Amino acid sequence: MDLFDLSGKAALVTGGNGGIGLGMARGLAAAGARVAIVGRDARKNASALGSLPKDCISLQGDVADEKQCRGLVDEAAARLGRLDILVNNAGINIRKAPQEYALEEWKRVLDVNLTGAFVAAQAAYPHLKRAGGGKIVNIGSMMSIFGASFVAPYGASKGGIVQLTRALATAWARDRVQVNAVLPGWIDTDLTRNAREQVQGLHERVLARTPAGRWGEPADLAGIAVFLCSRASDFVTGTAIPVDGGYSVQG
Ligand code: NDP
Repeated sequence: MDLFDLSGKAALVTGGNGGIGLGMARGLAAAGARVAIVGRDARKNASALGSLPKDCISLQGDVADEKQCRGLVDEAAARLGRLDILVNNAGINIRKAPQEYALEEWKRVLDVNLTGAFVAAQAAYPHLKRAGGGKIVNIGSMMSIFGASFVAPYGASKGGIVQLTRALATAWARDRVQVNAVLPGWIDTDLTRNAREQVQGLHERVLARTPAGRWGEPADLAGIAVFLCSRASDFVTGTAIPVDGGYSVQG
């Protein structure tokens, strides 16, 4: 039996309609999973769905809204008939100096990136248990490890994701639910295209610091998603794995 085979498994990927989420959704689908992608933008959902196999679905909603978030998880489980995998990938950033954030901006970033992941995990837990176990993958960042002057709420949310991952992994290991975090390096997506426009010299600094000598592509995250969502990682839990072309180990 193929250790990485996801045939018969059902997965929910928040923020799966573009960027890293779609890269991971494609990987999971290629390994045999049926995937529900979630995003707020119906047009982006429809276009992303066109690049996935016919048995995948899209759901529209905001993970920062508790009721919607719980509803999205339950709807995915109902429409796919089960739920084995949750990928908490939806994320936003608001870049400015710490002293310039309105409290609403701070809360919005935390609500989407951290609270949304917690609520989705809580909602997924009974479904995963019912399936006999499951996988949760939370998306952190290099900002889970490093600091930067323009990411106070984003960095707090991504540091929090790593600790949330460890707490859930510890709590749910006996239920055969493995919970891990992925820390992407600099990946070329809508999010970082904005960053490149807003932060002068960022593009060149990333290239110079990344041993692989390039920005990552969303497809670079497909392999880790399949590994962490498959039987191959059944004794791997609570980890935070960089997928960064060596960025985090460059001295
Ligand atoms: P994108 O902006 O390309 O994608 C973000 C995704 O999240 C979209 O699908 C978006 O869909 C969805 N989304 C945003 N807010 C919400 C919400 N409130 N409810 C539901 N869905 C939402 O970004 P990336 O692909 O770059 O980022 C994906 C994840 O990876 C994020 O958590 C980010 O922090 C993380 N990351 C990215 C890195 C990079 O270099 N790109 C590096 C490290 C981490 P819609 O707009 O339709 O809601």
